[in-house]
This record gives sequence, C-alpha cells and structure tokens, in this order.
Amino acid sequence: MLQTSSLKAFHGPIEAVHGIDISVAEGQCVTLLGPNGAGKTSTLSAITGTVRATGTIRLGGEDISRLPVEDRCRRGIAISPEGRRVFANLSVRDNLIMGGALQPDKAQLNREIEDWFTHFPVLGERHAQPAGTLSGGEQQMLAIARALLSKPRILLLDEPSLGLAPMIVAKIFEIVRDLKARGTTILLVEQNASAAIRVSDYVYVLNNGLISSHGAAANFGDGSDLMGELTGVHV
Ligand code: ATP
Repeated sequence: MLQTSSLKAFHGPIEAVHGIDISVAEGQCVTLLGPNGAGKTSTLSAITGTVRATGTIRLGGEDISRLPVEDRCRRGIAISPEGRRVFANLSVRDNLIMGGALQPDKAQLNREIEDWFTHFPVLGERHAQPAGTLSGGEQQMLAIARALLSKPRILLLDEPSLGLAPMIVAKIFEIVRDLKARGTTILLVEQNASAAIRVSDYVYVLNNGLISSHGAAANFGDGSDLMGELTGVHV
C-alpha cells in the first residue's frame, strides 16, 4: 500500500532522515520505533508532504512524491499527529466534521460521525463540548476518528500513547488492535516498544535518521533486546 525508497526529509538545510526504505502492505500495522529525535515524525511529515523530501513515495503503486499535501490526502493518506492537535475551541462534532471535509454527502458524513459515537461512546456523550476540555486519551480517540473520517487507505499514527497514563495507553493500543482487525492499514510511530510490537506485523527501528534494524514483529520479542540500541525507548 505504501512504499518509500531512499526517502530523505529536511527541515530547512537540516537533513533529518537520510534515505530510508519502508513498506506497508494492505491491512498491515507497521511500526517505526525510535528514540527522541530519531526522525520518526520527519518521516511521517515527508509522507504527508508537509516537509521537503527527496526519494520516492508510492501509495498503491502510484508515485505521490511530488503531489501537494491536499492531493495526498485525497489519494488516501491521513494522519493522527503527535500531540493529537485537535481544534481545542471547536466542539468534538465539529472536529469530526473537519475530518470529513472531503466527503461531499453531508448526510452520509453525519451517519459516519454517529457510527464513531457508537464506537467511542465518550465522544458521543461529549459531542457538543470544546475538544480542548477532553482528557488526553479522549483527544487521542478524537484525533484517530477525525483522521479516519477521510476514509484513508493508510492511517499514520504519530505517538498515540505519548503523555498518557498506563491504563489509557492500554486502551489506545486496544483501539489500534481493533482498527487493524477491521482491515485498516496503519503506519504507527512509537517509543513504547513492547506495546507497539504486540500490535504490529513488522517493525522498523530508526536511529539518527537511518533504519538500524527491521523485521517481522515476532522477531523483536517483547522489545527488551532493543534497549541497548535505543536509549530512551521504554519497553
Ligand atoms: P520525537 O519522538 O522527539 O518527536 P522523532 O523521532 O519524531 O522524535 P523528529 O521530530 O523527526 O524525531 O526529529 C528528527 C531531527 O530533526 C531532530 O534532530 C530534530 O531536532 C530535527 N527537527 C525536527 N523538527 C525540526 C524543525 N522544525 N526544524 C529544525 N529541525 C527539526
């Protein structure tokens, strides 16, 4: 579904990602693990088109590397960004309407939003509340539902567990597992190695902008072998 080759990502003159090849097959959950500053978010930004990048990005076989952000979104790339980035002053419902902005049939969009309220009842209960008043875990659910309302072919999830209490982290990973079971293709960025490995099919480890190891998730066990390789990644 998604393939990058020799992908480099830049922030102004700084090259943050130095030419990486990653691949996500349809229906897979693939994780990009790495410590702070490894280049995980930069990789996702290169894929969504929000930073300058070189190399090739293919979505469903089509080269999307030169397309602007909005065209990549139309082709089926959606992101739940690091730090959730919900629209704090807009209601929960309006955040979801923003997520479905490309859906021309507004009645259908409303039905889909109601479906998400069934799936995440807490969002339904709080549909009229400003999103900024939700807890971190609720905001993460909202960011995921908002991304999925664009009906992406692949969902990019940037550190969904960041800053959440352990019980809520477990809930968020349950959601990821459930999305995968329902056929969603996911590229997950995480620092929580053990939890990410458990929901993944395949893992890439990113260090200093380069892939230092990769393989089937089963080969990484509970992630404890990565401790030496990844200072700062918790297992
Ligand atoms: P984190 O988990 O801390 O978000 P990360 O693996 O996602 O880490 P990136 O945020 O992609 O890492 O950062 C990769 C490198 O690019 C780091 O050296 C970082 O300092 C640099 N960088 C990231 N964003 C910018 C920016 N806007 N301007 C300049 N340098 C940046």
